[in-house]
Amino acid sequence: MTLRGRLTAAFLTVVLGPVLLGAFFVGSTLSAVDRGRATERLGVAAAGVRTSVDALCQQLRAAADAVALVADPAARPRAADQVVGRGLAAAVLIADPAGRTSYATPGGPAGPWQDCAADATTGPVRALAAQVRLRDPAGADLGTVAAAQPVDPAFVARLAAVTGAGVTLLDDPGRITHTTEDREVRAAVLAAARQADGDRVTGTADGRYVRRVGPAPGQPLALVLSVPGERPAGLYEALVGAVVLAALLAVVAAWRLARVTTRPLVELAGAVDRVAHGDLTTRVPVRTRDEIGRLAGAFNRMTRETGSYVAALTSSRDQLRGHLTVLGDTLASTHDLQRILRVILHSAIAATGARAGAVLLVDGDGALVGQCVEGLDGRWPTENPADPATLRVPVGAGVLGTVAATGEPLRGRWEPVDPPTGEPTCETYVAVAFAAPRGAEPRPDRPGHPPADGDAADPDCALGVLALYDRPGADEFDDDDLVTLRTFAGHAAVAVENVRVHEEAQRLSLTDPLTGLWNYRYLRESIRREVERANRFGRMLSVLALDLDRFKHVNDTWGHAAGDAVLVEFARRVRGEIREVDLAFRQGGEEFVVLLPETDARGATIVAERLGAVVRDQPVPVDGHAGEPVRVPVTVSIGIAVYPDHAAGGQQVLDAADDALYAAKAAGRDGYRLAQAPDPVPTQEIPVVVAAASPPDGLPRAGAADAAAVAQGGASSGPQPPRQSRGR
Ligand code: GH3
Ligand code: MG
Ligand code: MG
Repeated sequence: MTLRGRLTAAFLTVVLGPVLLGAFFVGSTLSAVDRGRATERLGVAAAGVRTSVDALCQQLRAAADAVALVADPAARPRAADQVVGRGLAAAVLIADPAGRTSYATPGGPAGPWQDCAADATTGPVRALAAQVRLRDPAGADLGTVAAAQPVDPAFVARLAAVTGAGVTLLDDPGRITHTTEDREVRAAVLAAARQADGDRVTGTADGRYVRRVGPAPGQPLALVLSVPGERPAGLYEALVGAVVLAALLAVVAAWRLARVTTRPLVELAGAVDRVAHGDLTTRVPVRTRDEIGRLAGAFNRMTRETGSYVAALTSSRDQLRGHLTVLGDTLASTHDLQRILRVILHSAIAATGARAGAVLLVDGDGALVGQCVEGLDGRWPTENPADPATLRVPVGAGVLGTVAATGEPLRGRWEPVDPPTGEPTCETYVAVAFAAPRGAEPRPDRPGHPPADGDAADPDCALGVLALYDRPGADEFDDDDLVTLRTFAGHAAVAVENVRVHEEAQRLSLTDPLTGLWNYRYLRESIRREVERANRFGRMLSVLALDLDRFKHVNDTWGHAAGDAVLVEFARRVRGEIREVDLAFRQGGEEFVVLLPETDARGATIVAERLGAVVRDQPVPVDGHAGEPVRVPVTVSIGIAVYPDHAAGGQQVLDAADDALYAAKAAGRDGYRLAQAPDPVPTQEIPVVVAAASPPDGLPRAGAADAAAVAQGGASSGPQPPRQSRGR
């Protein structure tokens, strides 16, 4: 059942109950009063009836006495006629002791006559009579004298007139002899009279009250008296009508009242439903100031505040999503460590609401070095605030150093320390260390390299520290900020490790694992780049092709391991002899290439001489067959070619150097040769020169002759042997 239905039912109960009770009370009271009054009236009527009958009987007795007092029996009929003639009785009957009629006045009423002294009737009563006994002076019974009056409709009508009630005379079986009742009510009166006995009053359906009177001593007639009720006509109908009208009014009023009461609740329920479906713009009208009005107001306030809370959360989520997208894109698409750390720091600052922050990494000297800073201008002692690398904090010192040393995060309010550690000074701070993620390979070449399990609490494995400073409002950072910061620190650790692994992989893919020199792949890339640079700036690029002499013999004599040791030592000596800008490559086997940017043939020959000398002068110490140290004499042959003097492209200049190397080998080894200047008119006889001499138009050819002129150290400018494949 709905609330509206329940309210309607309650209202109807409250209103209709009293109405029904009142109607019942009024009806029953009026009915009781009416009955009381009718009983009273019937009592009075009954008394009137008894008095009238009694008076009639006395009158008849007096008449009979008057006749009986006549002493002369012969004069009695005359006396009887006189009594009748005077109207004292309708008839007089004189009987002998045997009951035989001796005289009867003429025209008397037919029998049977009801004796006034009788208390019961038998059959219909035609007349009422009083009888006295005739006695002689001696007291002997001489018969009886009876005087009678007819009991006819006129008599009954007189009774009715005297009493003011309807009068009905009944015979012994209870049939109507005479009545003044209307024909329509006779049957009802008779039926009610049958139920009445003694003085009891009964009622008929049409509102009459009925009572019986007699037969009884002194009142020998069986009479029924009836009076109409005095209650207003249509009383019950009016009462029922009033109740129905009240019920109808109550239903209408209850329905309206329930509607007015439940309407705001229905609106509120609908609004709650819409809010449950996510519509936080829902509002309900506030129409009143009562409890429901207050409820509606509170609901509106609640949805408004929830809406703004959700909007704030949504915008914060969108912001965070944006930061995460940028972070994810950055992590996925770049190995630029500085940029990644900048994005991580920016996202961490945005996520925690901090005003400033810094990311520092542990460097090889065991100090934390700033990688990127935000909002920290002038907060740490530096000449150049734009350079984050000037932010240096020793591991173990101050807040940042302690975090890096212990791996435990710190948060709190800044308290100046003495002596200053060089870290930023702010009001509040939170700092977490980050370490290489689990599974990262140990890096022997990096101080403080992480163990395989990457435990952040182990100070040995700390990669760096992520720190945030100064939250607006001067509140301290809380545990939630710490959790957030740990997440970003985890990203930072992964990023640093990824970049380092990437750099390492790149380095490994371009270096020769045995000697540590660049490999052939990097040679191809480098020669292209260096030729392009030389071309752009109009500089020279010298290329040295080196091949150890009789190296097979070293292997054969001392074994492959000794050969490897010779290669490693050779590479070390080459590295020691060249400049930082020069590049040394192991091309394959015991063949090497050195690129000398911005170096002409003269400079290149000097380098070649130095390299030859540094190899030749000191035999390489290796382990002999029995592990004993032996010193292996080693020499190297070198071919020199210069771009653009000897070739017009990267590959060509390499080939030219290779050809020159062959020339050096052919000349007896342990020396160098300069490539021949390309012949302006290519000939079939000198294929190597043809191969090396195909410069593009416009490239300078001068200098080749000069270069040839500086060739030294057993250099030969004679015809070159045909170039062979060198098995690369
Ligand atoms: P030359 O160049 O003076 O003509 O004589 P060579 O003995 O050096 O000649 P060749 O180029 O034919 O032989 C190269 C030898 O270098 C063959 C191989 O045994 C050796 N070799 C190549 N690569 C390696 C390496 O990585 N380690 C060692 N130990 N030996 C190598
Ligand atoms: Mg070789
Ligand atoms: Mg060799």
